[in-house]
Amino acid sequence: MGASLLDQLRTILGADGVVTDPDVTAGYRRDMMPLAPHGEPLAVVLPRTTEQVQEIVRACARHGTPIVPRGAGSGLSGAANAVDGCVVMVLTRMNAILEIDPDNRLAVVEPGVVNLDLRDAVAKHCLFYPPDPSSYDWCTIGGNLATNAGGLCCVKYGVTTDSVLGLEVVLADGELLRTGRRTVKGVAGYDLTRLFVGSEGTLGVITRATLALRPLPQAPGTLVAAFGSTAAAGAAVSRVIREGIVPSLMEIMDAVSIAAVETHLKTELGAGRGCAALLICQSDAGGEAARRELAAIGQACRDCGAELAYTTYDLAEGQMFLTARRAVLPALEVYGAWMTDDVCVPRTRIAELIEGCARVSEEVGLRVAVVGHAGDGNMHPTIVYDPTSPDDLVLARRAFDQILEIGLGLGGTVTGEHGIGKVRREWLVREIGPIGLRTHRALKAALDPAGLFNPGSMFALQ
Ligand SMILES: Cc1cc2nc3c(=O)[nH]c(=O)nc-3n(C[C@H](O)[C@H](O)[C@H](O)COP(=O)(O)OP(=O)(O)OC[C@H]3O[C@@H](n4cnc5c(N)ncnc54)[C@H](O)[C@@H]3O)c2cc1C
Repeated sequence: MGASLLDQLRTILGADGVVTDPDVTAGYRRDMMPLAPHGEPLAVVLPRTTEQVQEIVRACARHGTPIVPRGAGSGLSGAANAVDGCVVMVLTRMNAILEIDPDNRLAVVEPGVVNLDLRDAVAKHCLFYPPDPSSYDWCTIGGNLATNAGGLCCVKYGVTTDSVLGLEVVLADGELLRTGRRTVKGVAGYDLTRLFVGSEGTLGVITRATLALRPLPQAPGTLVAAFGSTAAAGAAVSRVIREGIVPSLMEIMDAVSIAAVETHLKTELGAGRGCAALLICQSDAGGEAARRELAAIGQACRDCGAELAYTTYDLAEGQMFLTARRAVLPALEVYGAWMTDDVCVPRTRIAELIEGCARVSEEVGLRVAVVGHAGDGNMHPTIVYDPTSPDDLVLARRAFDQILEIGLGLGGTVTGEHGIGKVRREWLVREIGPIGLRTHRALKAALDPAGLFNPGSMFALQ
């Protein structure tokens, strides 16, 4: 085998591309999901080019060393968590926007580009890259691709996979696979692009992506509706969907979320007046079309018992409501640490899910806030606990699992956008069944026969 793996990595990357100082590598051991297990990496490597990624993969393959690809580490499933002795491959130095082609409405980017940087860059060409996870100001496109990230825009514009045309992926033997196309349509062969999107770094390392862009939407109008019960808010969501209205955003916050944000931002959102749920909706249809859409949503909310339905076309005011929505997770830190679930249920069952979460909260004795993307049924029940208390951690895990159980029972899925990672492996088996699992494992074995890409994520080690 010759030189040690660390020596080989230093030859490939230079000394500043290989980090072994435990004080520094500690920051790359895990992502933002406190429940998931993590190990101690042998090294953290920071490639700048696809060729370096290929050489790292080949060197690790020769030594049988696992590789955990990593973007910004904002994930909420433990998918980027290190395993003992692995190489954590951080892609943030590969952060070039290589091309913006307004005539074909596409962009070609490296994986380390931060989501917001891409959105800002394409906006200068009056173009729009829709996927907008709430972490958009620090998560990377590579992480978004590997988790098939969603966000607030999904109700109208879909998830990450709906904006991807093609990928470059370094495979387990170091070869470079090109998937997809630059054209609007194309059906040549299996849809390998969609296979890699959402594969959580278990099948290969994404080094480049061709992304579909849209025309920049009109400035949005915003509607906020307050409800005295979650059932009424859930009914309003169903009514809007049934009436064929497609808002560009439709978010829900329950009473616990509202109270936390009010405390955190020192603002008033309605919790003091007995508000059980807020719906925040936007239309980016522009002009009269937006007014018609928001009027119809307002009417649907009032018909379902909204106590207030307020519409604004003032951008700053609309932005203030979105800031409140995006602030829920940090706001919950006023009570303790948080861990968030990611169940997605049929949109007709949202109220039942929120009520189920209230029961779980009462049973385990921990605060559970529910916030989520009501327009697509993707809810983030978030459990607040005392991180210094081992008992609380056990209770939090119990609540986390009970909520997944409720979500599945309502005909939902255990993850709408955060992924399986290391925290929902057993639940993946529950959801997809033995034949689904066998098919997953067959794909993994075909593409990564030695099992070196992100072992222990997606499924347990065999
Ligand atoms: C406050 C907060 C709000 C959030 N809101 C949302 C939201 O609204 N919607 C949503 O979907 N998510 C949300 N997330 C979760 C998280 O931001 C997303 O999962 C995001 O896509 C992760 O990107 P990242 O760059 O941080 O990836 P990481 O966390 O570093 O990695 C995520 C996964 O991608 C893999 N990976 C990373 N780069 C590559 C690559 N180049 N090739 C192959 N695999 C790779 C990793 O191995 C891992 O499996 C939120 C997180 C936080 C902390």
